[in-house]
Amino acid sequence: MRREILAGDLEKLYLATDMAKIGCGGCRDCCDCCMGMGQSIVLDPLDVQRLEKGLQTSFAGLMELCLELHPVDGILLPNLRMEGEAEKCPFLNEEKRCSIHAFRPGLCRLFPLGRIYENGSFRYFIQHQECRMQPKTKVKISRWLDIGQLAQYETFVLEWHQLLEAVGEMTVSQRDEQLTKDLNVYLLESFYQKPYDGRDFYIQFEERLAYMKKLLKILSR
Ligand code: SF4
Ligand code: SF4
Repeated sequence: MRREILAGDLEKLYLATDMAKIGCGGCRDCCDCCMGMGQSIVLDPLDVQRLEKGLQTSFAGLMELCLELHPVDGILLPNLRMEGEAEKCPFLNEEKRCSIHAFRPGLCRLFPLGRIYENGSFRYFIQHQECRMQPKTKVKISRWLDIGQLAQYETFVLEWHQLLEAVGEMTVSQRDEQLTKDLNVYLLESFYQKPYDGRDFYIQFEERLAYMKKLLKILSR
């Protein structure tokens, strides 16, 4: 998802092995990043697979419970559906804690970091305006993300980003309303709706990605 990035935030870029001053001492009393977030908590296929597993439900079940679809750069993607005027996350409990902390979405793990994609890879940066709570402590980014199989996760993040970019570019270049619709439906069905089985998620993602890439290649001829 393309978001407005403040130039100053890009002065320092980080790898997951770096330390960054993002440790949020205010987290015990503050839940600002779980409220008023609009449609910005967009979920990738891994987020959805982890939510399905954690909540013992299907994509259709998640749609009823907590998701909605909205176009992001022209592609229909699921996001957490916030509640009420305060736009409160449905998983924020009365103690102002995340009730799905173990399988919270990737964007929640990332906040207040962002990713900048360049030259076939990405690096992290701090979105200083997103969380103004001070003081902050230095934390290793890999620890902040708190996700297993980090190398595979980062490969997945990059490949998913590149796929969305390729699909977006195709819909813009082809200017074909039906093709745009079909690609959106196919992307949703094959990466979100079709259940992932008990095998490693990343293996299954790679299989689906390879198929989608073939399809895009055929369509671009
Ligand atoms: S807004 Fe900042 S201080 Fe508040 S919970 Fe989120 S990361 Fe922590
Ligand atoms: S899923 Fe958890 S961390 Fe993410 S916005 Fe909701 S309550 Fe906050």
